[in-house]
Amino acid sequence: MVPHPRGAGRYAPSPSSDLHLGNLRTAVVAWLMARTSGRDFLLRIDDLDVERSRVDVAERQLADLAALGLDHDREVMWQSERADAYTAALASLDTYECFCTRREIADAVRAPHQQPDAYPGTCADLTEAERAERRRERPAALRVRAHGAQHTVTDLWAGEVTGCVDDFVVRRNDGTAAYNLAVVVDDAAVGVDQVIRGADLLNSSPRQAWLAEQLGHRAPTYGHAGLAVTADGRRLAKRDGAVTLADLAEVGVDTADVLGQVAVSLDLATPGEAVTAETLRSRFDPAVRPGPWIVGEGAGPVRGRR
Ligand SMILES: [Zn+2]
Repeated sequence: MVPHPRGAGRYAPSPSSDLHLGNLRTAVVAWLMARTSGRDFLLRIDDLDVERSRVDVAERQLADLAALGLDHDREVMWQSERADAYTAALASLDTYECFCTRREIADAVRAPHQQPDAYPGTCADLTEAERAERRRERPAALRVRAHGAQHTVTDLWAGEVTGCVDDFVVRRNDGTAAYNLAVVVDDAAVGVDQVIRGADLLNSSPRQAWLAEQLGHRAPTYGHAGLAVTADGRRLAKRDGAVTLADLAEVGVDTADVLGQVAVSLDLATPGEAVTAETLRSRFDPAVRPGPWIVGEGAGPVRGRR
């Protein structure tokens, strides 16, 4: 795979469940950002989590994106086929084995300046004899040695975001690549230079940008769009009623209605107006931050026009 000189944006769903309104809206924003900046728009299926990923779900996700009119360039990338690239990247990093359980990490005493979710460094300096002992108890994850780095990224809408880079996991203890590693390796492999995604991932961006530089890549530009939330301020979830295209179709809300509602949430259409992805593209202003989207409560948060 050769990075494309035009640059690229991407959307990368995890196929654990069907895309809900918030996921679809983020996809629309990512597509608009790519299409209004002359970038390719790439799709990647983040199916590293073998226990939760399902091919049929991934196929429905791709069909949903196509139904909204979000066309893409090049072939869809599947993370499950990328193990060799992750192994090669791991070999170039300074890593160490970590045997901690979640509980041990939660209970560890941290230095005062460390963030509450930062790895406390428990396994950073184990002797070979200690590692041999602990390998008998449980398989090791691999963590990258970050030496307490701080890293700053510039988000297109949030501005500068500085985060502590702890010794985060780059290979899970089941042997698969960790999310942060896979994202960075895959984005670099296909020339993704603009990452548009949900605001829940903003805090991951300093770690990922730092890792990209460790691997010899230029970190992409980031833009974190507001999430879809319920009226009481929770992140929208599948349990919030009819929130997927399939569920909404059953209650009489078709795909065009959904796109219209997303457009309204982005101030790109008036309620009830018929729009296409192309309409949105012609109206979209990349300088305007897509804020949170408060959707209604109960079944069918998106109302039909009728
Ligand atoms: Zn550990």
